[in-house]
Amino acid sequence: MRNHVQVAVIGGGVVGASVLYHLTKAGWKDVMLIERAELTSGSTWHAAGGMHTVNGDPNVAKLQQYTINLYKEIEQISGVSCGVHITGGLMLAGTPERVDWLRMAQARGRYLGMDLQLITPAEAKKIYPLLEEKHFLGAIYDPIEGHVDPYGVTHAYAKSAQIAGAEIVRQNRAVDTRQRPDGSWDVVTEKGTVHAEHVVNAGGLWAREVGRFVGLELPILAMEHQYFITEDLPELKGQQELLHVIDFEAEIYMRQERQGILLGTYERAGVPWSARTTPWDFGQDLLPNDLERIAPSVSVAFEHFPRLESAGIKKVVNGPFTFAPDGNPLVGPVRGLRNYWVACGVMAGFSQGGGVGLTLANWMVEGDPGADVWAMDVARYGDWATRPYTNAKVRENYSRRFRIRFPNEELDAARPLRTTPIYERLHADNAVFGDYCSLEHPLWFAPQGTPAQEDTTFRRSNAHPHVAAECRAVREACGLIEISNYGKFEVTGPGAAAWLSRIMTCKVPAVGRITLAPMLNEGGRLIGDFTLCRVAQERFFVVGTYAAEVFYMRWFERHLPPTGVFVRPCAMEYLGLSVAGPNSRALLQGLVDQDLSTAAFPFLSFARMDVGMIPALVGRVSFTGEMGYEIWVTSEYLRALYDLLHTAGKAHGLRNFGGRALNSLRLEKSFGNWAREFRPIYGPYEAGLGRFVHLDKGEFIGSAAATAEKASGGVRRLITLAVDARDADAIGDEPIWHGDKVVGWVTSGGYGHTAGTSIALGYVDNAVANETNGFAVELMGERRAAVRSAHALVDPQGLRMRA
Ligand SMILES: Cc1cc2nc3c(=O)[nH]c(=O)nc-3n(C[C@H](O)[C@H](O)[C@H](O)COP(=O)(O)OP(=O)(O)OC[C@H]3O[C@@H](n4cnc5c(N)ncnc54)[C@H](O)[C@@H]3O)c2cc1C
Repeated sequence: MRNHVQVAVIGGGVVGASVLYHLTKAGWKDVMLIERAELTSGSTWHAAGGMHTVNGDPNVAKLQQYTINLYKEIEQISGVSCGVHITGGLMLAGTPERVDWLRMAQARGRYLGMDLQLITPAEAKKIYPLLEEKHFLGAIYDPIEGHVDPYGVTHAYAKSAQIAGAEIVRQNRAVDTRQRPDGSWDVVTEKGTVHAEHVVNAGGLWAREVGRFVGLELPILAMEHQYFITEDLPELKGQQELLHVIDFEAEIYMRQERQGILLGTYERAGVPWSARTTPWDFGQDLLPNDLERIAPSVSVAFEHFPRLESAGIKKVVNGPFTFAPDGNPLVGPVRGLRNYWVACGVMAGFSQGGGVGLTLANWMVEGDPGADVWAMDVARYGDWATRPYTNAKVRENYSRRFRIRFPNEELDAARPLRTTPIYERLHADNAVFGDYCSLEHPLWFAPQGTPAQEDTTFRRSNAHPHVAAECRAVREACGLIEISNYGKFEVTGPGAAAWLSRIMTCKVPAVGRITLAPMLNEGGRLIGDFTLCRVAQERFFVVGTYAAEVFYMRWFERHLPPTGVFVRPCAMEYLGLSVAGPNSRALLQGLVDQDLSTAAFPFLSFARMDVGMIPALVGRVSFTGEMGYEIWVTSEYLRALYDLLHTAGKAHGLRNFGGRALNSLRLEKSFGNWAREFRPIYGPYEAGLGRFVHLDKGEFIGSAAATAEKASGGVRRLITLAVDARDADAIGDEPIWHGDKVVGWVTSGGYGHTAGTSIALGYVDNAVANETNGFAVELMGERRAAVRSAHALVDPQGLRMRA
C-alpha cells in the first residue's frame, strides 16, 4: 500500500469505483481506493441494475445518458463485462394526469436529444404482451433503457482505473481522516496511514459514518428496498428479452431476469434502515423479507399483469440504499473542509454513477464540474437539513417515487419547521404557504372563509383569480410581500470593495447605492446574481438566493484574501418586507423622516432609516418592476414592521401578495431568476446581463471568458415569449420550437395578469433569437404559438420603478 497519494477514495461501491476511474481518465493517476471489505460490499452488490435516462432535472438526465453510454468504454478498457442489456423501456400511465406527465416528459426529452415515443396501450401490449391493456391510457417507449450487472460494472470501473495506475486496497477500513495544517489529509486505515492531498467520501451506506470522522453530518438516510424474482415463465424461453417497465399506478418497476420477472416497488410505508448509524459489520448481507409491506402494490401489479400471479416467487431481495432528502446525489467539495469531497446519496448508481464520477473528477482536476450540477451539489443543503428532517423527507420522497409531483404541489413532510415572526399574521390572512429550504413562505392568499388550499394540477389552479387580484393591487395600488426567504450576506473590511469588484462583474456602487451584481466562474459562466447594496465605505449588504447560501459561501471563502475582508451569511438575522406599487412611496413616506422623493432617494438608493420606531435598511428596488422598497430589519422587529405597514397601508390600498404573484409580475418584466434563467450553463451576455458586466474595470473572475463571449455573442439568448396558451402555462423545461425545429427550452413561465397573456422565458439558438414570429412552446403535448417580445411585456422602459 502506498503511503502517499494525490487522492484517497474511501469506498469501493459503484460510485467510488467510477470516481477512481474518472480521476485516472482526467490525468490524476496517483490515486487509491480504500475498501472496507470487497468491492460492491454496500448497496451495490444486490442492486437490480436497472438504468434509464429520464430524470426530473434535465442536467441530471444528461449525466444519466452519459453513464449508459460509458459502459462500452469501460468494458473495452478493462475486458470485464458489464452485462449490459439494452431492452428498451415502457412507462405506463393509468390516469389522465399521468398521461399529461408523459407528454411533458416526452417534450422535455426533445431538447436533450432523447427519442421518447408516446404510444397507445394497444401498441404497448404488442411490445409487452404480459400487460392487461384495459388498465392503461398510454405509455412512453424509451429505446435506451435496460439493466447491467452491478458486480461487472463496478469491477470494470475498478480494473480500468488500475490499468491507468490506480491502486485498490481491499479488506482495509478507513477509521479516521485527519486534516494537516496545509489542507492535506491523513487517512488512517486498518493497514496504516495514507497521506493524501484530497479525500473523497464515497462511503455509500457508511457515508454518514465516514463524514462523522470530520464532524460532518451528511443529510442521507438508507431505506429498505425489496424486489422479487419470479419462477421461470416458459413462454419467455427463446424470446427476445422483455422490456424494462414502470407502472406508475401499481408503483412498481419490472424487468426480465433470465426467464423470470424481477419486480420491485417503492412502497408508501417505506422503512428506514439504521436511521442513526450503519453497523460496520454489515457486509454482503440482506435484510429479512417483508412481503406484506409490498403486498398493496403487488396485488395491483397482478391485476395489471395477470400472468405474474401464477408465476411463483423464486427469490426475494431486501437491501438498504441511501437517499438525500430530494432523492438526488450529494456531490462536490464540502464547504469549510479544504480538499474534502463527497460522492454519496446516489440512489440510482447504474444510471447516475458514471455522471457522478465524471462530475467529481472534473471538479477536482479542473476546479469546475464542467456542467450544471446544482441538482446534485452537496451545497444545496444547509444546517437546516438535520438528521430527523432528512429522515422525514427521505421517507416522503421514497413513498412518492412513482407518484406525480405537480408543478404547484407543496409536500407536507417536516412542516412547518422554520417560520418567521409574522407566520401567524400571514396565516390569519389565509396564506397558502410553500416550503423553501424548510422555511415557510406565502405563495398566495385565499379569500377569507375559503380553505387555504391549492388544487394540484398541470393546468391553472384555483389560485389563478386570487393571484390576479394580488397582481392588480401591486400594479394599481400597493402590495406587501415577505422577502425573508432571500439570502443575505454582510461583507465588511478595508478590502471589501476591491474584493467584491474581483468576484463580481459589476462596478462596486457608491455608498448609499445599489447595483445588480452577476458573479461568474473562471469559465465565464453565471454562478450567481446579487443585489449589491453599499451601506458604508467598508460595509456591504448583499442579497441573493437563499437556497444557494452554502454554495455562495463555499465560493466566497475560496476566494477570500487572508486579511482585510469578512463575509458572513445573515439570512435569518435580517428578515424583510417589500412594499411595491404606485402608492408605496406615499405609504413609506408617512413612516420615515427622510425625503423619499425621486430627487432625494431615486431608484437603486439604499439607506439606514427608522421606519416608525424600527431601525431598518431600506433599498429602493423591487422585483415586481413597480416603484417599491425592500425593508430589512433584524428579526425581532419584523412583526412590528408588518403591523406598522399594514396599519398605515389601509389608506393606500395595501394588501398582501405572495410568491405566485411575484413570479407573474417579474415575468412581465422579463426579470430572470437564479436557478431558472441564471445558471452555470449560461454566459452573462446570453442571459441579457451584459450591461452589468464592466469589462473596462480591470480583471475580475471570468473576465477573459466574458470578453470572449461578448465578442462571439455566445451561442444562445434569453428571450421573452407571449404564448397563446390554453389553460396550462409553461413551468420550465418545455421545448421551444421555431418552425419545425426545437431551438431551445423554457426556463420559467406563468400567466402575466397585467399583460393578459401567458409568458415564457427561455433560451434559444442565436440564429433565431431576433425572430419575432414562428415560435411555439410545447405545452401538454400541443405546440402553442408564441411571439417573441423584444421588450418586457409591461412597462418596457422601466418608467414605473424609476418614477
Ligand atoms: C434492493 C436494491 C435494488 C436496487 N436497484 C437498483 C437499480 O435497479 N438501479 C440502480 O441504479 N440502483 C439500484 N439500487 C441502488 C444502488 O445499489 C445504489 O445506487 C448504489 O449501489 C450506490 O453505490 P455506492 O457506491 O454509493 O454505495 P455502496 O454500494 O454502499 O458502496 C460503499 C462502499 O464503501 C465501502 N466503505 C464504506 N465505508 C468505508 C470505510 N470507512 N472504509 C473503507 N470502505 C468503506 C463499503 O464497504 C462499500 O463497498 C438498488 C439498491 C438496492 C438495495
